[in-house]
Amino acid sequence: MRRLVCALLAVLLVVGVAAASSNYVVITAKGKKYHVEGCRTVKKAYQKLTVDEAKKKGYKPCKVCNP
Ligand SMILES: [Zn+2]
Repeated sequence: MRRLVCALLAVLLVVGVAAASSNYVVITAKGKKYHVEGCRTVKKAYQKLTVDEAKKKGYKPCKVCNP
């Protein structure tokens, strides 16, 4: 039983880390680039989405923040 709990905790930890680094980026209303949240070129983030979603929508990575 204890082993199961440990395994479960390990899984949760991995999932948590993966979720934290699952690369959320922000896009702006007019820009064609996606950015790391907090990028200095982004004055007002328009939408937060994953890198994959941003790529699918045709956005390119910002050269300043390097998402
Ligand atoms: Zn940027």
